[in-house]
Amino acid sequence: MSDRKIDALGTDPKVIDGKAFAVKLREKIARQVKQLQAERGFTPGLAVVLVGEDPASKVYVRNKGEQTKECGMASFEHKLPATTTQAELLALIDQLNKDPKVNGILCQLPVPQQIDPQAIINAIDPDKDVDGFHVVNAGRLATGGQGLVPCTPYGCLLLLKDRLGDLSGKHAVVIGRSNIVGKPMAQLLLNESCTVTIAHSKTRDLPGEVRRADIVVAAVGRPEMVKGDWIKDGAVVIDVGINRIERDGKGKLVGDVDYASAYPKAGAITPVPGGVGPMTIALLLNNTLIAACRQHGVKLPD
Ligand code: NAD
Repeated sequence: MSDRKIDALGTDPKVIDGKAFAVKLREKIARQVKQLQAERGFTPGLAVVLVGEDPASKVYVRNKGEQTKECGMASFEHKLPATTTQAELLALIDQLNKDPKVNGILCQLPVPQQIDPQAIINAIDPDKDVDGFHVVNAGRLATGGQGLVPCTPYGCLLLLKDRLGDLSGKHAVVIGRSNIVGKPMAQLLLNESCTVTIAHSKTRDLPGEVRRADIVVAAVGRPEMVKGDWIKDGAVVIDVGINRIERDGKGKLVGDVDYASAYPKAGAITPVPGGVGPMTIALLLNNTLIAACRQHGVKLPD
């Protein structure tokens, strides 16, 4: 990383600091919530449902609850045993759909195997679907309707716009085609008038595709797969991957991009951790705020 430059503030301008961006976004949301309470007399509320004892899910749910409260919103946590049936979970979703204090509903995935996750997602009122996974919200995103956008790709888009401004005409390569990251990411970039290539496990010449990209978004789940010599000089690299590996006898989190070799080539790059990861919960809170304003028929405060 020979070309690392540190600016007067002691930060590296090449590194896209998602953690700092997310802090600012949460501060803005907290101000908007206060304004809604003072001027409109309501508090946005987020319900998070956790089924079972998955340790990673427990941490996510705890973090979501804490950050919801820190922003001044109401947090409703529902923890159900791993033996919960699909019918029982659907009954809870129905109750939350009808509760006017709940503006956003999220069911933490994965759910135990007796429950069909898509049936649960599609039971959530699309206007309260703050994860943006409901088929209606996927359709709205694809057709230019007013929906709720999945949080991780939405966070990536904000980081890209903050760095590049207008994205129109740029060639973006999204690696990964999942419903929660790759596909909505590609759709968001298309909506910004990028020329979009979606690469995936069957793509023939992945390095060649990535070499043509002004913007690379990697959402694969394979540690350090994208190498520096795949990156066009000056391209902006967004690394969504979160992979836990063992190195030198220690556990470590790495992305889908080989940061050490990509850093010198990239014009800007997100680190792992501290890049895309912190944006996801911030965008979940932002979606809850948007959903609450729409349900109350009021404009989002500035
Ligand atoms: P997924 O497993 O659902 O999808 C992975 C995609 O990668 C698939 O579409 C597949 O076609 C593609 N792929 C697999 N092997 C490939 C290869 N060799 N070459 C090219 N493409 C290949 O994963 P996901 O849910 O989209 O998540 C992707 C990564 O992003 C994971 O590391 C996950 O942990 C991370 N993630 C992070 C956040 C966050 O908040 N930062 C949120 C969601 C997911």
